[in-house]
Amino acid sequence: MTGAASAQARPTAQIGSSPNPVDQYTRPPFDRQTQAVPGLAGKMVPRPDHGETSYKGSGRLAGRKALVTGGDSGIGCAAAIAFAREGADVAIGYLPFEEADAAEVLALIRAEGRKAVAVPGDIREQAFCEAMVATAVRELGGLDILVNNAGAQQSVADLVDLTAEQFDTTFKTNVYAPFWITKAALPHLKPRASIIITASVQAFNPSANLIDYSQTKAANVAFAKSLAKQLGPKGIRVNAVAPGPFWTALQPSGGQSQDKLVTFGADTPLGRPGQPAEIAPLYMTLASAEAIYSSRQVFGASGGTGVD
Ligand code: NAD
Ligand code: MG
Repeated sequence: MTGAASAQARPTAQIGSSPNPVDQYTRPPFDRQTQAVPGLAGKMVPRPDHGETSYKGSGRLAGRKALVTGGDSGIGCAAAIAFAREGADVAIGYLPFEEADAAEVLALIRAEGRKAVAVPGDIREQAFCEAMVATAVRELGGLDILVNNAGAQQSVADLVDLTAEQFDTTFKTNVYAPFWITKAALPHLKPRASIIITASVQAFNPSANLIDYSQTKAANVAFAKSLAKQLGPKGIRVNAVAPGPFWTALQPSGGQSQDKLVTFGADTPLGRPGQPAEIAPLYMTLASAEAIYSSRQVFGASGGTGVD
């Protein structure tokens, strides 16, 4: 992903500059491209921009310790890079298949002089979820920021073709795992900690082809709202982020049909998908004291569509 920016048409996003969001980055149509689940960002054309060259930190997470699930690629990768550039030590969870993507992120975190912890494994297993949290806490020396971001999405046009196996995988990955991970993390979280869960606009405006996925994302929103009420008195904030279409490995690895991938993001008012780098500042803000009075909220970044 270090070469990601070069594959983009106009990779001019800079903190402090004011690019036109319409002109920013590659616009559809995209080339047809398929990958096996879970997909690799490094094999996408164009490669996603995770902020590798553009994200500039200013110490807003100095000394914090973060665990980001699905931190190898896409939205989680962009958040992990931003956290490290803001001074945090970062552990990332990912599937062993994704080692190539993960290695690039881990190197970028270390390049900031921050500690980078790799925790490969399958979060559909409760035992791994608990082990991942234990490893992160041990290696980082505590935990302040938990980003439940890993997710599974497979497009199925007809409910009759939606298998129980897929339904189970989607719910295990998107709903059970955040429950298991957060439960394991809670004993380690102190006042000032921040929990973020990656939901989706699908929670509010579900697509016809994402029956199982959209239900899990609605569950993510309810999880954030409920847990925020429980943890508020303890000084722990919980928020959800609801992205619209983002150019990540999730999409060419079955998240969209090939026809929809070609025009991905074209139906937003900005006319293009977001790049992971464009949503990372939201995660950074929610993780930091900048958003100290925000909890139980759902924050969107969806190119002009909404979370309503
Ligand atoms: P991505 O494929 O880059 O990241 C998803 C990550 O989830 C993978 O990298 C993988 O490491 C992890 N993962 C999946 N199954 C796993 C398993 N069984 N065990 C361990 N890890 C597993 O794609 P992304 O779009 O950055 O996805 C991040 C989150 O954003 C997901 O929750 C997704 O639902 C959500 N989201 C994405 C979009 C979008 O358009 N890309 C829109 C709304 C919400
Ligand atoms: Mg990945």
